[in-house]
Amino acid sequence: MIAAAEAAGVNAIGVADHCYISSRRPLTDARAIVGMNLDRTYERRRHAIELLREETSVTVYDAVEMDYDPDDRADIRAFLGTAGFDYAIGSVHRVDGANVQLNARFEDTSEAERDRIVDRYFRQLVDLIETELFEIVAHLDLPERTPTLRGRATQEQYRRVARAFENSRTVPEINAGRATDEGIVHPSDAFLEILLDHGVEFTTGSDAHDPSEVGERNAFLETFVENRGIDPLDPRAVLRASD
Ligand SMILES: [Zn+2]
Repeated sequence: MIAAAEAAGVNAIGVADHCYISSRRPLTDARAIVGMNLDRTYERRRHAIELLREETSVTVYDAVEMDYDPDDRADIRAFLGTAGFDYAIGSVHRVDGANVQLNARFEDTSEAERDRIVDRYFRQLVDLIETELFEIVAHLDLPERTPTLRGRATQEQYRRVARAFENSRTVPEINAGRATDEGIVHPSDAFLEILLDHGVEFTTGSDAHDPSEVGERNAFLETFVENRGIDPLDPRAVLRASD
């Protein structure tokens, strides 16, 4: 990933593995199956990052993407305090235990239930922003990735999120995780407009899970922000805000 960042000519890259901190099912099951155990491996990874920093001119940030559920707030706070990452990204993937990216999960649910899931998602997102636990919040409107949940978000939900940002150090990202293949950018244009109206500032995130995605998505993001007249925050400003 660092070599890909070098090849893409970027100044800095953040390494932000997924992490669950929870003693509750189904998260304990999910982490067992997919192996998201950064809370147990971050020191080993940190050692690797420290060694790799000596070999590159790219600034490498030692970061985390933490799954956020209000029920795990105290555990997350304690872990982040102990681990001392350069920054923490918070994200909501699950509502009532269901991953909002899994379309099949919602195929047999009613329209009203799908609307309820989307509303719960945004309430959880506002809660995440209000905790002040995270420097960055990821992929703001994740349900847009999911055909059964797409297009259900309301202007009022967007405004609630925008108001939460006005009073928080947490900064949203413009996320290119589905941009170059499916044409989905988080946040959507309608959401982005409301956030910009509220004076919310952004960082950018490639959401790259493979080195081949780093350069391509970075180029996409550069063009995207330029076309919309957005001047992304310097990563150092995002980090300073948390001091
Ligand atoms: Zn995520």
